[in-house]
Amino acid sequence: MGESPGVIYFDHAATSWPKPPGVVEAMVSAMDSAGGNPDRGSHALALAAGRTIAHARSEVARLLGVSDARDLVFTSGCTEALNLVLKGSLKRGDRVVIVSAEHNAVVRPLYTLVTRGVKVARVPVDAEGHVDIEDVERAVAAAPTRMVICQHASNVTGAIQAIADLADVAHEHGAVMVVDGAQAAGHLPVDCASLGVDAYAVAGHKGLLGPQGIGALYLAPDFQPTESLQGGGGSSIEVTQPADRPDRYEAGTPNTPGIAGLGAGATLLLAEGQALMARERELTRRLHEGLLEIPGLRVLGPAPDVPRVPVLSVAHERTSSDEIAYVLDKRYGIAVRAGLHCSPWTHAAVGTLESGAVRFSLGWGLEDGSVDSALEAMHEICR
Ligand code: PMP
Repeated sequence: MGESPGVIYFDHAATSWPKPPGVVEAMVSAMDSAGGNPDRGSHALALAAGRTIAHARSEVARLLGVSDARDLVFTSGCTEALNLVLKGSLKRGDRVVIVSAEHNAVVRPLYTLVTRGVKVARVPVDAEGHVDIEDVERAVAAAPTRMVICQHASNVTGAIQAIADLADVAHEHGAVMVVDGAQAAGHLPVDCASLGVDAYAVAGHKGLLGPQGIGALYLAPDFQPTESLQGGGGSSIEVTQPADRPDRYEAGTPNTPGIAGLGAGATLLLAEGQALMARERELTRRLHEGLLEIPGLRVLGPAPDVPRVPVLSVAHERTSSDEIAYVLDKRYGIAVRAGLHCSPWTHAAVGTLESGAVRFSLGWGLEDGSVDSALEAMHEICR
């Protein structure tokens, strides 16, 4: 399966498209032959739905290095997962150290908590988008700290942060380590156990190749944020939310088709992820080197020889980002995303808060020739 005629899709960091074989089929099958309400009732369709979810949970857990699948809860997306962790664990007087490249999915819930007495210390990133571990250590050591938050990879610069080292720093100072993995999962090997994190949130619809409206959250066994919703689940007798995982965090009827689609994406990545990631890296390197040759164009983020996720954002000295994205779409059928990408902090750090940038993001299904098409179009537009 490739791209639909007429569209060259470079917007995988927003959402992956098209979805690989197996994902749509798994969703249809969840609604069709497993269409009961999971874990509610003992008839065949309800049991099949329960098995669909259990299978998807174990596939996603295996992919993310989560040894006990009950520590992986499904959410509506990475945004909900991050809201759950922050609002469920921070209280008045708690201090949070946050890396200054975070997405609004972290920044906005956190600053909602600031209005309720949570304190924030920001640690800057350098011009390529990387945070210096010593800066984080200094910030954490400066005052008692409850939480360190950092994204695994940037949706603007593609920069990858040293999460395992950050988790060590957090733990040495008695803080928990929370990670926004929206742009890493599916594009980088992610192993929650060896990263040593307390929470790792993912989007299902980006690199994990599932549909929109699904995400997942790993919670370390001894990290127990309060659940954000209470309600029905598998057990009925108590008036309080069950303490067991994953039921505690999954009140109400789940998005079974979405979970099935995400599970199918994980299955594909378990089988072919290494090869897909190697191909993404190669296409990203070619695009990166080609973009660097275009006069007047600045490529944000790390140099070509530094590891990154397949995200390349560019800013032109004369032509606005919106105009470049418009012409790419209308004249060349190339889909990108212009603007600030819900990450004004990152744009401020790399000097593009005023201009915004045009983001090319790569992923599954991109054909080899797409990189050449993008480079030809950019040469013409930037001439
Ligand atoms: N964090 C980052 C870095 C992202 O790029 C995104 C998606 N734009 C999110 C969080 C939010 O993910 P979701 O769409 O699953 O809520």
